[in-house]
Amino acid sequence: MSKLIVFTAPSGAGKTTIVRHLIQHLPSLAFSVSATTRAARSHEKDGQDYYFLTEQDFRQKIKKDAFVEWEEVYANQFYGTLKSEVQRLWAEGKHILFDIDVHGAINVKQSYPAETLTIFVKPPSVDVLLDRLTNRSTETAEQLQKRLDKANYELSFESRCDYILLNDQLSVALEEAEQVVRRFLETPEGLINK
Ligand code: ADP
Ligand code: 5GP
Repeated sequence: MSKLIVFTAPSGAGKTTIVRHLIQHLPSLAFSVSATTRAARSHEKDGQDYYFLTEQDFRQKIKKDAFVEWEEVYANQFYGTLKSEVQRLWAEGKHILFDIDVHGAINVKQSYPAETLTIFVKPPSVDVLLDRLTNRSTETAEQLQKRLDKANYELSFESRCDYILLNDQLSVALEEAEQVVRRFLETPEGLINK
């Protein structure tokens, strides 16, 4: 049976860094490439980091019921998990890793409660989160502010996730993430969430 492992957190907490590490170290995992209407960052590739869509295309897909879940995570920026993506990875027999916002995480868990582990990536503090986002230098000042405005709200979701992963020292967080995911993958189906 394929299992679903969902990483969620405020922007800048370290989800992408941790998910990339896991994909490299655990070959039974595959990354669910989301669709988004935000512009690609300079290093991002279409079909690899995201499927970059126009808002019109994204709305068409909503109409056609093409998403497992979708959210307007920031004003005028849509993100969603395509059913076709999940089916593609299932067909490959992979366990699926998601990097999605807090609402998306709760929705995936509700849709597949027996198969899903939700992991909340917790930054050491809001100040550190601000530093990480600023140093990443991928957002304009306005976009950065939108992300920070939402961070406290998103931090309140930690108690609704199955596991809280503190991302303070990166090497420690990566090691812990690997351990938690390995343990989850080894858990027999019927014992998950028991
Ligand atoms: P997210 O995907 O949650 O938005 P990223 O993985 O892009 O977060 O991380 C945000 C920034 O913080 C990146 O520049 C990343 O290299 C850096 N980062 C991630 N984890 C740590 C850590 N433990 N210590 C210092 N910097 C980190
Ligand atoms: P970013 O623009 O930094 O790549 O992502 C911004 C936020 O959107 C992050 O919280 C990320 O996890 C979330 N996100 C990415 N893809 C999806 C998705 O398919 N669904 C939902 N609900 N959120 C997503």
